Amino acid sequence: TDFIEQSLAEHDGPQDSILRPLSFDDFAGQPKTLERLKVMVGAARDREEALNHILLSGPPGLGKTTLSLILGHEMGKKVSITSGPIIDKPADLAGLLTNLNEGDILFIDEIHRIPKTVEEYLYSAMEDFRIDIMIDQGPNARSVRLNLPRFTLLGATTRMGLLTAPLRSRFTLQSRLSYYDHGTLQGIVERTCGLLKVDFEKDGAAEIARRARGTPRIANNLVNFCRDYAQQRSGGTITKENAAAALELLEIDTRGLDEMDKQVMRVMAQNYRGGPVGLGTVAVAVGEEAHTLEEVHEPFLIQEGYLQRTAQGRVLTEKGWRVIGLEAPGGNQT
Ligand code: ADP
Repeated sequence: TDFIEQSLAEHDGPQDSILRPLSFDDFAGQPKTLERLKVMVGAARDREEALNHILLSGPPGLGKTTLSLILGHEMGKKVSITSGPIIDKPADLAGLLTNLNEGDILFIDEIHRIPKTVEEYLYSAMEDFRIDIMIDQGPNARSVRLNLPRFTLLGATTRMGLLTAPLRSRFTLQSRLSYYDHGTLQGIVERTCGLLKVDFEKDGAAEIARRARGTPRIANNLVNFCRDYAQQRSGGTITKENAAAALELLEIDTRGLDEMDKQVMRVMAQNYRGGPVGLGTVAVAVGEEAHTLEEVHEPFLIQEGYLQRTAQGRVLTEKGWRVIGLEAPGGNQT
């Protein structure tokens, strides 16, 4: 249980608990994933069974943890939240699993980072609802079988490709969350303003939504900053003008690009003629962790058409060259 609190605390921002939608009806966007989940919840409820195992993937901040809590709520079951890298050894996993009741949900965030030695135990837990744990060492070593309640494993990952095939195949449903469109994000911004009791004009909410990179968590953070800015620098109401000024101050441009995005593109253009270049090389040059670039920055840059991922490495597209105010060298076929 220590893991559980530790992991929500690490994952959440200050207002996540107020801002999180609690039911399917409150959750905006992601229509395909929502429809699939509703079908599964309806069927599991009708049969009075545990929900089948589900894997959600997609960039951080799109609602994977939120959906796990909604699933718990809709099923009327407890959700335990943990994260791959903090499940150190098989005994940790056994501890988590034996604490569950029938139908409870174990949410494992960053499931691609679960240690290999632990992952193998997960297979039999998911498939046969039991795990065989070795206790003691040397001549006294013996294996003890633990029978588990029928639980639901909800895995979340930012990197579907890093999951091993045997693990992936044990999930009945694999659903990918995508970036939110502008209208949906504006709705989320307005909802957040309402919950935080901030006055706003529609244009102000639209300005925040436009710059939030399709990501509810970012939208909520921007609302918080814009609210502070409006309170300190104008009448307290978020307007198009003060939202734009606040976001300029954060160096977030009208396309939602931040300084790190631009630095990545500048390094690629100026040091590597637009690529192809390996992400690790770019990470060193801009002084950022490779996995942050890969999980946070790159997916958005690719989605918006600034970058391409090729077998030889990352390549800046023509749109990428243009956005940093440079000209692609001749003969660059992007
Ligand atoms: P992830 O687990 O994918 O990193 P979270 O579930 O923690 O993302 O979501 C981050 C924040 O964004 C949450 O606090 C939640 O309030 C908000 N959020 C996510 N998805 C939605 C949505 N569809 N509608 C409203 N708010 C959302």
